[in-house]
Amino acid sequence: MKIAILPGDGIGTEIVEQAVRVLKVLDLAFESETALVGGAAYEAHGHPLPEGTLKLAQAADAILFGAVGDWKYDKLERALRPEQAILGLRKQLGLFANFRPALCYEQLTHASSLKPELVAGLDILIIRELTGDIYFGQPRGRRTAVDGHFPGAEEAFDTMRYSRPEIERIAHVAFQAARKRSKKVTSVDKANVLETFQFWKDVVTEVHAAHYQDVELQHMYVDNAAMQLVKAPKAFDVVFTGNMFGDILSDEAAMLTGSIGMLPSASLDKNGKGLYEPSHGSAPDIAGKGVANPLATILSAAMMLRYSLNQPAAADRIESAVKAVLSAGLRTPDIWSEGTTKVGTREMGDAVVAAITGKTITTKT
Ligand code: NAD
Repeated sequence: MKIAILPGDGIGTEIVEQAVRVLKVLDLAFESETALVGGAAYEAHGHPLPEGTLKLAQAADAILFGAVGDWKYDKLERALRPEQAILGLRKQLGLFANFRPALCYEQLTHASSLKPELVAGLDILIIRELTGDIYFGQPRGRRTAVDGHFPGAEEAFDTMRYSRPEIERIAHVAFQAARKRSKKVTSVDKANVLETFQFWKDVVTEVHAAHYQDVELQHMYVDNAAMQLVKAPKAFDVVFTGNMFGDILSDEAAMLTGSIGMLPSASLDKNGKGLYEPSHGSAPDIAGKGVANPLATILSAAMMLRYSLNQPAAADRIESAVKAVLSAGLRTPDIWSEGTTKVGTREMGDAVVAAITGKTITTKT
């Protein structure tokens, strides 16, 4: 097993360090190699996704990714901004299926901004299409308007588009994932306004009718889905949607679980090779302070073992260790509540390692 480790920027380096420590105590035979990506790669090599980093990612069986970005790069031309590295990796590696489980651990029901009874036991899976939609559609750019409300004015435009095969392949992923859960899929669209999403809805309906009649399919407009996610989140099981809606809804779902610092993700290609990363960004506001929650990254490493490296027992060990640490009352500041023990990034990593190796979880305040 060869794992490419790409920590990135901001808290990326701090949280990936903890996930790697956790992987190392599992006694698995794996090789790993680390490379720069994002702003760190731009500083060293003048590009956020240097050739060497891309080659390493292509050659690996799986990629563990931290996060990229910093406000200081906002003035760079778009192609050189750190965020282009993650978009480039998704595109170059064909990582079209993004899995974001949103699980509310029983110990964290009070860390959610919703009432505990609304989120207790929450277990939903958001499946987001990752290589199409308005994030990749061409043409895009700036120009002088020739029509619209202000002809002659400066304007910007992007292109929302999905092809039939793109929708079909993500629909298969969603329905197959639902078969391993409670066989219920909510496809989120904006078919009432957007041609692209009327097409999405039509194709999803066809795939369902032809192959997945055993799975319950519901269609929902994205504005309603955003509302239902905070009104009655447990009514969902698999929520499946396009790139932009999935980006927004998965952050919303993150807050149901207590903190975005708890939410792992997997981005898979058609063969199951994947890039694993927390759902959050590089959090420049807390970078370098040693307070970032590493659990989303540690849980992403567990997803990597399960989905790409065929090590489900090791994945279970990580997930059980995370539950044990939460049961012991340890909390980084983002999930802290009265009566629990506040710890930093490294101490949280220490505790997960201790839980895996069977040592007593010690708490320091
Ligand atoms: P963010 O996810 O970095 O942070 C949002 C808020 O959540 C911040 O208050 C942050 O402190 C908090 N937060 C995030 N992760 C946390 C953790 N593990 N523990 C505790 N608190 C945590 O989003 P943002 O502030 O909008 O973006 C910051 C940078 O990250 C930008 O440059 C953005 O483009 C980039 N970004 C990168 C990715 C990626 O690498 N895949 C994803 C999203 C944003």
